[in-house]
Amino acid sequence: LAYAIHWEESIKIIIGHLYPDLLNLYGDRGNIQCMMKRCEWRGIEAETIEYQLEDEIDFSRLDIVLLGGGSDREQMLVCEKLKTIRSDFKNYVEDNGVVIAICGGYQLLGNYYMTDSGNIEGLGLVDLHTEQGRDRLIQNIVIKSELFDTPIVGFENHGGRTFINKNKPLGKVLYGSGNNGETGYEGVIYKNVIGTYLHGPLLPKNPKLCDYLISRALERRYGEIVELEPLDDTQEMEANQYIVNRFAKRGN
Ligand code: GLN
Repeated sequence: LAYAIHWEESIKIIIGHLYPDLLNLYGDRGNIQCMMKRCEWRGIEAETIEYQLEDEIDFSRLDIVLLGGGSDREQMLVCEKLKTIRSDFKNYVEDNGVVIAICGGYQLLGNYYMTDSGNIEGLGLVDLHTEQGRDRLIQNIVIKSELFDTPIVGFENHGGRTFINKNKPLGKVLYGSGNNGETGYEGVIYKNVIGTYLHGPLLPKNPKLCDYLISRALERRYGEIVELEPLDDTQEMEANQYIVNRFAKRGN
């Protein structure tokens, strides 16, 4: 169990996976499995609820929300639905609800995503916007976040360029393009919301980020500072380190 908490009752988190049929590029679902497993290994119960477009979402039940990546076409389909959940989703975010939004999902957190074939209205949960660029930014990526020492590694593939205005980025780009290929920053952090262009397997390769999300969710639900029991992350760290060495240490 996690340290620093005296739980008598069993503890549990519920993950809401929004529209997995439409927003699930590059196996973003693997991130859910990672969160579930890292909870279970510590004796923390974890459940995932998948929501389809026609489902009602009761945000008060949720501890972590995952919005995955999608093509422009799929984002356009989801966009109409988002208008109907916007106010509940916003209340959840302002109440420190944990959100991990990836690529297309990250873009949808913002005010809009302007594409060549039209404007996709976003949720407006975080003050950011995206504009389609001429070419796609496709490559491995390594970033350094202030959240922890280990670099975050992943893969990016996006046509959109995201501008986060006055918000804090998730990290500084060590290798790759990041938000827009110009500012040198990647992703966004707003309250307990993380938006990023790094695709699945984001969390399996970056267990510290996974634990960060779980800790924030437990703190919010159980109201105490949580230090999670360490797990044996030897293999995960080898995968992470391999990418850091291969790309970010080039020329050193
Ligand atoms: N459709 C968006 C873009 O190309 C996001 C793609 C994605 O989720 N990989 O910018």
